[in-house]
Amino acid sequence: MLFMEFSRCCEQLEGISGRLEMIDVISRVLLGLSPEELPVFVRFIMGRIFPDWSSQKLGIGPNLLYEAVHLASGFKSEIVIDRINKTGDVGKAVEELMSKKSQISWSHQDLEILYVYNKLISISARGGTTSQKEKIRTAMLLLGDASPLESRYLARIMLEELRIGVGEGSVREAVAKAFAVDSALVEHAAQAINDLGEVARLAKTGPAALADVKITLFHPVRMMLAQQGTIAGMIEDHGMVAAEYKYDGSRFQFHKKGNDCRLYSRRLEDVTSALPDVLSQLLSSTGHDVILDGEVIAIKDGKPMPFQSVLRRFRRRHDIAEAQEAIEMVPNVFDILYLDGEMLIDLPFAGRRNLLVSVLRQHVAPQVVSSDPAVIEQTYNDALSAGHEGIMLKVTTSPYTPGQRGKNWIKIKPEVDTLDLAVIGAVWGEGKRAHVFGSFLMACQDQGKLVPLSWVATGFSDDQLAEVYDLLKDQVISKSKNEVRFEPGLVFEVGYAELQASQTYEGGFALRFPRFIRIRDDKDIPEIETIESIRDRYMSQSKSAQAYQD
Ligand code: AMP
Repeated sequence: MLFMEFSRCCEQLEGISGRLEMIDVISRVLLGLSPEELPVFVRFIMGRIFPDWSSQKLGIGPNLLYEAVHLASGFKSEIVIDRINKTGDVGKAVEELMSKKSQISWSHQDLEILYVYNKLISISARGGTTSQKEKIRTAMLLLGDASPLESRYLARIMLEELRIGVGEGSVREAVAKAFAVDSALVEHAAQAINDLGEVARLAKTGPAALADVKITLFHPVRMMLAQQGTIAGMIEDHGMVAAEYKYDGSRFQFHKKGNDCRLYSRRLEDVTSALPDVLSQLLSSTGHDVILDGEVIAIKDGKPMPFQSVLRRFRRRHDIAEAQEAIEMVPNVFDILYLDGEMLIDLPFAGRRNLLVSVLRQHVAPQVVSSDPAVIEQTYNDALSAGHEGIMLKVTTSPYTPGQRGKNWIKIKPEVDTLDLAVIGAVWGEGKRAHVFGSFLMACQDQGKLVPLSWVATGFSDDQLAEVYDLLKDQVISKSKNEVRFEPGLVFEVGYAELQASQTYEGGFALRFPRFIRIRDDKDIPEIETIESIRDRYMSQSKSAQAYQD
């Protein structure tokens, strides 16, 4: 295929807005391509050069490209940059400049799509001190050989942003249509090998090749993602569900073959060298060849640190040994995608979990399987008390679907919405917290009256409970059994997931998943939330719920 044909195809697609027409155009082009051209065309048409599993980069940023355009077109750098800024479209600006270029190429040749691809690969392979000059030179020569229309798309591909509105879904459908294979088979193969280009090449040989694809070690697959949902909804839909803590760290995928292992980030970058401590913990936990999915968290004094500390470690390039000492990084593994040559993504989650537990000696994320909402809510409260973000609920019969944000994984975490409420009562804590108050009755105001709204028992550290006890112990105005009432004075900021209409409390509302955030010693009782404002919040919440359903 000539790069000119590719460029004309892009131009045609740029003018199409209907998805079906787009699929039709692409599928017809696919039919005429050789096995070598197929992967390149498929990646190019999505504005990519390398397979999705690859961390390889072209290494041409806008500045190098502008320099190459300056050299290829003969226009001064300032003019190039000015044109790009004015058009707001690198491709069109480069096309315009190249159509008016003063420089004549020594030799003008028809560019083949494979020739362009190989030149780009050679640009990416250049390293060392002279690399920038070499990259610019190769890019300049390529642009010099291109016609103005070709240079529009060449420039965009170099920045890996084609802007012709072709999504991955359309290309998948086009592959299915061109080679008359089931689009679910195409999707499954793309999930497993994470390179739609290669999938297209296999599809040309027939459905058997597609059905046969396997995950390859050291070719990371996309992470399965979660949707928001509710505990009640999940139990209603599935009965038994698996609950795990939702760790507030960074996602990782660990690949191991013998003693070789690598770690990939959520964006599938290779972060092996930044996290030797995580790597060695995982390596020493199993003798099997595996691909594991998990979340790494940072721990200090036994407590999870905010996830920013983990991110900093993921990005770290220097002084890694020092960083290791400051914060302990702990992997929590919750899935297994590959074991000793077998791809596991199509097994039900319960089956994968059994294998995970049997091959990993440490670092398996604990799991509670139940159909009882009270048990799951308890797990949620435990997760928050332990400083985690919430819980994940997973359908035990579901496969692992790379890259998909489906309903098989649901995240439950507190909303950031908070209310400032008065503490009007408490009950004593239990166990090691028996000498302090453990749970607090919170109230809002209604025309000078305090109206109970909710109990809050999670979100406190031991120190905070001791501090709160000191503030309240002399404010007790009545006692019955293990419950006390206070002279109102202290205000808490309380987070919650949702406001619910409720008969339990006289105000008519209750908080779902209430959680202590902090003491508001800067606020007095007249400044706490009113029942009217809570009613308003409830109404807008149900409106947004309604709008969402619509
Ligand atoms: P969110 O980033 O809020 O969409 O939540 C999904 C993310 O939670 C995943 O991508 C993981 O990085 C993270 N996570 C933490 N704990 C778990 C777990 N037990 N199972 C799956 N994902 C988890």
